[in-house]
Amino acid sequence: MHIPVGYETSASTKDTRDYRCRTCGHRQQAEVTGIGTGMQTFLNSQGTAQRRARDSARHELRRTIRFAACPKCRRRSGYLKFMAPYLWVTGVFVALGVVFGYAPTWFAMNMRESDKAICATYVTWGFAIFAVLAGGLPLWFRWANNDARVKWLDV
Ligand SMILES: [Zn+2]
Repeated sequence: MHIPVGYETSASTKDTRDYRCRTCGHRQQAEVTGIGTGMQTFLNSQGTAQRRARDSARHELRRTIRFAACPKCRRRSGYLKFMAPYLWVTGVFVALGVVFGYAPTWFAMNMRESDKAICATYVTWGFAIFAVLAGGLPLWFRWANNDARVKWLDV
């Protein structure tokens, strides 16, 4: 039997936003597309996923125009802010990997030293690789597609 515990949906929104370059001060308007996803579980009321998707799409509008490369000087700014959520995800998984990997060593579990060493290596690296996949890939994808969502309007 299939039990629907939740579902995910996406929404996209388009709006005009003002851009101001933090490097050269150039200002231009752009039509920005924001794509967002929303999830809901069976605990949420009907339409929660759609509402979350719309909110996240609107939030994406702001993120996208902020990170867009300046049409005049081609510079980008706000790298750290753009990368922060992905770096955070990566950092959490790396931290978890270190905690789980070294737990047998730290808590002097009843394990052979060689097994502890294997655990420390493989668990930590397993989490680290997963961290890169979970944080790095979405970041790369989002980065590569950012400017395709910005259509500069004539001044
Ligand atoms: Zn500029």
